[in-house]
Amino acid sequence: MPIYEYVCPKCSSRFELLRSMSQANEDAPCPQCQQKAKRVLSVFAGLARNGDGLTSSLGGGSCGGCSATGCDSCSI
Ligand SMILES: [Zn+2]
Repeated sequence: MPIYEYVCPKCSSRFELLRSMSQANEDAPCPQCQQKAKRVLSVFAGLARNGDGLTSSLGGGSCGGCSATGCDSCSI
């Protein structure tokens, strides 16, 4: 099972939980104060998301094997 990270809105405590993916978006009780803590994206997931944004902004119709100015394998 993957590990998910949660931050408590009341005491700001950060904790990790081993959960099934179907439970990932559910609130988890804070171990300190039992408030419902929201899931936060891990550093790893944040990096992956930035990577996607970078790829799509660079993509822009090029084939990925060339710079944005075009090449033989793309139709720019
Ligand atoms: Zn708390």
